Amino acid sequence: MKVINAEIVISAVSQKQYPNDRLPEIALAGRSNVGKSSFINKMINRKSLARTSSKPGKTQTLNFYKINEMFYFVDVPGYGYAKVSKKEREAWGRMIEEYFVSRENLRAAALVIDIRHDPTVDDVKMYQFLKFYELPVVVIATKLDKISKGKRSKHLQAIIKKLNLNSEDAIIPFSSETAEGKDEAWRTLLPFIK
Ligand code: GDP
Repeated sequence: MKVINAEIVISAVSQKQYPNDRLPEIALAGRSNVGKSSFINKMINRKSLARTSSKPGKTQTLNFYKINEMFYFVDVPGYGYAKVSKKEREAWGRMIEEYFVSRENLRAAALVIDIRHDPTVDDVKMYQFLKFYELPVVVIATKLDKISKGKRSKHLQAIIKKLNLNSEDAIIPFSSETAEGKDEAWRTLLPFIK
């Protein structure tokens, strides 16, 4: 897809701040530092619209990026920082629950996973959480440029197995460095927003 317009509309902490223009939404989930912001920026051809390397302890927000006046990428704060307090973890849980439970415009989730490693316990929990809400999930296996071509298939299979990925959910090898997988990611995501 040719992205002509991309803007951050709001960094929301609660439901009343969500945009109300009823455009379809695709949520982006993944552990902190996995490459979620880089994925969004690569998909929309912006160097740094989505903030990369968000620091722990910073206010956790749902960031709504409006793309071509057509749909939103909703960046969900990352999980899995070891040093996050119980209180912060609970606040994170309440915020994402509030969003996923109630959001009618939400059409699918992109779950960003590091292709080099087995999914973490938190990754598996997040996948199960998304499936609990019966959302289609597209797994973005990112940092593809960091493994050799010969190892791709083995790593993808390991992710599919560990997540127990449903056969209707896609998995797309992706690199924010080389843009490999970008066209396939658009092809897979577009049907959800049309
Ligand atoms: P976020 O916390 O999930 O938003 O992660 P970021 O997008 O900030 O990425 C974390 C780090 O991984 C940054 O240093 C990125 O440059 C790097 N990174 C993200 N995606 C890729 C990728 O596809 N390939 C490589 N080599 N590095 C990546």
